[in-house]
Amino acid sequence: MGTAHLQIDLTALAENWRALDGRTAERCETAAVVKADGYGLGAEAVTKTLWEAGARRFFIAVAEEGAAIRQTLGPDAEICVFSGHMAGDTDTIQSLNLTPMLNSIEQLTRHFEALPDHPFGVQLDTGMNRLGLEPAEWTAARRLVMGQSPAMIMSHLACADDPSDPMNARQLRTFTEMVDGVDVPVSLSATGGILLGPEYHFDFTRPGIGLYGGFPFTDGRPVVRLSVPVIQTRDVAPGEIVGYGGSWLADEPTRVATLSAGYADGLIRAMGNDAVLFHEGTPCPLVGRVSMDLLTVDIGHLDTVPDSLDILGTEQSVDDLAEAAGTIGYEVLTSLGVRYRRTYS
Ligand SMILES: *Cc1c(COP(=O)(O)O)cnc(C)c1O
Repeated sequence: MGTAHLQIDLTALAENWRALDGRTAERCETAAVVKADGYGLGAEAVTKTLWEAGARRFFIAVAEEGAAIRQTLGPDAEICVFSGHMAGDTDTIQSLNLTPMLNSIEQLTRHFEALPDHPFGVQLDTGMNRLGLEPAEWTAARRLVMGQSPAMIMSHLACADDPSDPMNARQLRTFTEMVDGVDVPVSLSATGGILLGPEYHFDFTRPGIGLYGGFPFTDGRPVVRLSVPVIQTRDVAPGEIVGYGGSWLADEPTRVATLSAGYADGLIRAMGNDAVLFHEGTPCPLVGRVSMDLLTVDIGHLDTVPDSLDILGTEQSVDDLAEAAGTIGYEVLTSLGVRYRRTYS
């Protein structure tokens, strides 16, 4: 087996969904965000598992992502598109029966002209300045939009992974004002917002990262284990370098294992010389730079040569690894490579 093994724990995924669902009141629905191929874990397996756990409303980033999910879940799932109704999306939205979150006056116009009786939602900008109608636009468009019976109205928090950030309360206030008197389901919170407390929950929530075992849902279960096979080992003498650029120099005799995965598999180059891998709980430092297809790891302190070492799993979460690479768990997950042998359990 020359390729690394990515094990995806669908039981843990379902448990994480149920755990986040349990953080909100009974009447508050918990949707699921499955954009970017289910955060890199495989949209089909992920959506099927979440459907069986009880999710009925799914969010994707762009309309094209809807095909695999509609095919997996059939006609009853509600599949919603954050990027809304973009130019050229009309046929996809119609044929896959997607619900676009309309983000601008331009998108509202496009949607009502092209698909006047087709379900839609509205995204409001409460301060993130990324997607959605701004307060003044909403004031102008609200009567007309509400006359078309939107399926939902939503907004997104910019700083919810930090409960102490004053932006959270500011966006909550703006959202509360903007949806005052609206009689359709409204939603403000992703994973971070769920953890901020009940006033952030509204009618439904939209967790993503927490389902997949990532921060800020620190009570969640890890969903991925990634084991990278050893190709060969060699003894390295003091003064010898390892890898491109000679960025690591042995200062004592040791043994270095060369492993079969690299930055082309999403083990991003910035983790070189910083990350660790694990053999049955024992940390083994990554030494030298990450190559496209290879990692070099110091195993001099082990008394065996393992067949493989784990870089993600119970010993090291996606967030731990992200920290070594100067990034976030979201990027580690969505970078997971296409070459891995993937098994689902
Ligand atoms: C990605 C996304 C989510 C999910 O966010 P997480 O932090 O992964 O829970 C929810 N809503 C919107 C608008 C998003 O873009």
